Amino acid sequence: MVDLQGQYKSIKDQINSSLKEVMETSAFINGPEVQKFQKELEEYLGVKHVIPCANGTDALQIAMMGLGLQPGDEVITADFTFAATVEVIALLQLTPVLVDVYPNTFNIDTDAIRKAITPKTKAIVPVHLFGQCANMDEILAIAEEHNLYIIEDNAQAIGANYTFKNGTRKKAGTIGHVGATSFFPSKNLGCFGDGGAIFTNDDDLAHTLRGVVNHGMYERYYHDVVGVNSRLDSLQAAVLRVKLPNLNDYNKARQEAARKYTKAFQNCEHIETPQVETNQNCDKDLGICSTCDCHVFHQYTLKITNGKRDALGKHLAELQIPHGIYYPIPLHSQKAYKDSRYKEADFPVTNQLVKEVISLPMHTELDDEQIAFITKTIIDFVNK
Ligand SMILES: *Cc1c(COP(=O)(O)O)cnc(C)c1O
Repeated sequence: MVDLQGQYKSIKDQINSSLKEVMETSAFINGPEVQKFQKELEEYLGVKHVIPCANGTDALQIAMMGLGLQPGDEVITADFTFAATVEVIALLQLTPVLVDVYPNTFNIDTDAIRKAITPKTKAIVPVHLFGQCANMDEILAIAEEHNLYIIEDNAQAIGANYTFKNGTRKKAGTIGHVGATSFFPSKNLGCFGDGGAIFTNDDDLAHTLRGVVNHGMYERYYHDVVGVNSRLDSLQAAVLRVKLPNLNDYNKARQEAARKYTKAFQNCEHIETPQVETNQNCDKDLGICSTCDCHVFHQYTLKITNGKRDALGKHLAELQIPHGIYYPIPLHSQKAYKDSRYKEADFPVTNQLVKEVISLPMHTELDDEQIAFITKTIIDFVNK
């Protein structure tokens, strides 16, 4: 699905010398590399504060702790996402409230958010799934109307832009009160292990978060709040400092691969290609934008609409073509997250998507020959 070795080879000398420098100075924890990376990421994102931490799941959890959410508070999020998003809500004894998504973008349905709001609702967690922002104009309006926090799960969309209806533009993850991301190796900006970060423009919240990640300490050995231990290693920060200047090019390479995939699937019956949906009148070629980075294609996800998705998956596996089913089971159907408030009729889109979606190899090193082989195999099989 990803080609981490190919990418490493292209930046090997830089990475090796950065890692060597960390080892020689042995500043493994909170060394200068971490602080430099933090500053560089703040600059790249145009956000006041980046708080590095150990992984994306921690980033979400710490964001919720920092906002002071209390047991029993309801937090609305998407039914169609990776479990980490809901897991931390439940872990903090908050109540996850799952809602359906849109069939074209896979992102949280804002009418469903409105319907799910109760007096106990305290926050919304939009997930910018597969590399494209949720409808943030509408989510900001809902949050303002009902006095709710917005925590963006930006694990899949780092570097993506969101253009508001009024034309202003912001980076994904810097729009709500707080954003969380992951540097897991396969993410668009991945390190060589686990890593994550939290973003906010709020000075007070940033101060709180910096304490929460560090055992609730604001002064050494004074523990003002219950915190956690969640750090980004200096070695990981060194890797990320080499990769961050390439992030825009990496995302461009993903968009380019997406465009080639979509071109090949054009007019194929029973195969629906992903669509960008943007307020910007961007230069859309076959549903893929090449101008405003509104989609950074963490995943390239097709819908197979003639019931052959599972058979296709098997066929690809036999030919050793990697693929992924993100996600095969709606979260509201998972044992851990069952809730009597959920009715199947409230999740028509997710219930359908889990049967139709299939994600193809997507990374920075895909070449034309690979894309041609993958697309031909799929087209031949689906319309056999
Ligand atoms: C990867 C991911 C996470 C978790 O990140 P980790 O670094 O693996 O903890 C959270 N949410 C989404 C949507 C993700 O894709």
